[in-house]
Amino acid sequence: MRIGVPKEIKNHEYRVGLTPDSVREFTARGHEVWVETLAGAGIGADDAAYEAAGAKILSTASEVFETAQMIVKVKEPQAEERARLRSDHILFTYLHLAPDAAQTADLVKSGATCIAYETVLGKDGSLPLLAPMSQVAGRLSVIAGAKALEKEHGGSGTLIGGVPGVAPAKVVVIGGGVVGSHAITMALGLGADVTVFDRNVSVLSELSLTYGSALKTVYSTKAALEAHVLEADLVVGAVLVAGAAAPKLVTADMVKRMKPGSVLVDVAIDQGGCFETSHATTHSDPTYIVDEVVHYCVANMPGAVPRTSTYALNNVTLPFALALADKGAPQALLDDPLFLPGLNVHQGKVTCSAVAEALGYEF
Ligand code: NAD
Repeated sequence: MRIGVPKEIKNHEYRVGLTPDSVREFTARGHEVWVETLAGAGIGADDAAYEAAGAKILSTASEVFETAQMIVKVKEPQAEERARLRSDHILFTYLHLAPDAAQTADLVKSGATCIAYETVLGKDGSLPLLAPMSQVAGRLSVIAGAKALEKEHGGSGTLIGGVPGVAPAKVVVIGGGVVGSHAITMALGLGADVTVFDRNVSVLSELSLTYGSALKTVYSTKAALEAHVLEADLVVGAVLVAGAAAPKLVTADMVKRMKPGSVLVDVAIDQGGCFETSHATTHSDPTYIVDEVVHYCVANMPGAVPRTSTYALNNVTLPFALALADKGAPQALLDDPLFLPGLNVHQGKVTCSAVAEALGYEF
């Protein structure tokens, strides 16, 4: 199959659909890979690295779309990319169609086979192609929080891990899923005093088994959460209620009563945020202060580390992309009941029930 990798064009997007190592996997199996010039610049992979892996470099995105049978990307196709899609194309990327009527209409019109990373399922009902970005965001949340605790950034001037003779920062992680567990790993690694809240007792049990007595686990009630948040130096918001906006677990009144110079990192901001005082920020201006509490609410945290994020993403997308190249679509999807839910739009029809329901398409 001929695989195309265009350079991402969404604002501030530096990731790329395939790394040179992934390209090598395709070319070793006899597939052709066509990469737009400088597509890997954001992750430090130049055209020569792709050529060494067996890819051919094209100078424009339109040549990549014209040549390829399957397009592998990271972000949802932008309007000018959607205009290049044909009915014989396979598109494999993040799509997030439910809130995006314009994109869905264009994909339906194109007739292309559009497979979304975010709806491919794991055996336990998890979302394995979303997980690496949650891992990145979880780990980054503590780095961002530690930085914001510095005096210069509006924080109380507390070193997250303390030093011998001086207590470390108190870190509260709300939600012990993928983001939360990676935030815990990072915070404990830096020597912080860490407490995690969750509403699912088996999540707390598993975390307790993993981290032992170094981690305090607390069932998430309003009263317990309030008591810990008022004492905290850093609170990481990492909750998810599937299919719903994040619950506002820290109220504006609680923020008023938090310690001056404490920090809130709202990773759940992409679902509306779990602190009442949160609003989305960007990497170029990531923090703001409300009632002397620093807020960090960047909606696309993995974008700060495109190199790690791209490699982590490729680790999970590659087997599916190779199956598509080897078997074509729809065969690769029909052969794998966990891959099939990834199909969102096919031959002019919406094939994902959640998207069809959200946007009023027939299913
Ligand atoms: P997850 O499903 O793995 O974990 C969420 C956890 O929240 C679950 O364990 C659940 O039991 C818990 N929870 C639900 N309600 C709760 C409550 N009231 N109190 C305490 N815990 C509660 O989800 P995840 O992958 O860790 O993602 C968490 C959030 O981070 C999501 O909103 C996701 O979209 C977001 N996210 C943001 C970025 C970013 O760049 N900002 C990147 C990746 C993920």
